[in-house]
Amino acid sequence: MADPKRSEVIKKESTAVPAGKKSAGHTPAERVKKLPMRRCVGCGESKPKKELIRVVRTPEADIILDPTGKKSGRGAYVCRDKTCLRKAMKSKRLERSLETEIPADICESLERELDKADENTEK
Ligand SMILES: [Zn+2]
Repeated sequence: MADPKRSEVIKKESTAVPAGKKSAGHTPAERVKKLPMRRCVGCGESKPKKELIRVVRTPEADIILDPTGKKSGRGAYVCRDKTCLRKAMKSKRLERSLETEIPADICESLERELDKADENTEK
């Protein structure tokens, strides 16, 4: 007896392997989510990454805003909102996330940078 199903099964199996797909995270849950979510260290809410801004401690130990999200260093996310940034700094959650102390003048310059970064995101 002929068995046409057999070759079908083999075909399905060979196509089930995603060829050349980068597996960065490789957890099954990641297949489901559409947007990368990050938690704001100010208000503690999870939001799509693009609604947040990254604060990064560079390898040179500078604390800067990273609107591109691509700078190397230890990063934390806050809403694009000065209230959240302030909250994150006041509550020391930002310091804890970045594992460093953040002097007051740096806090102020981060707030100013946040204003600038907001102007630059009108793309
Ligand atoms: Zn927030």
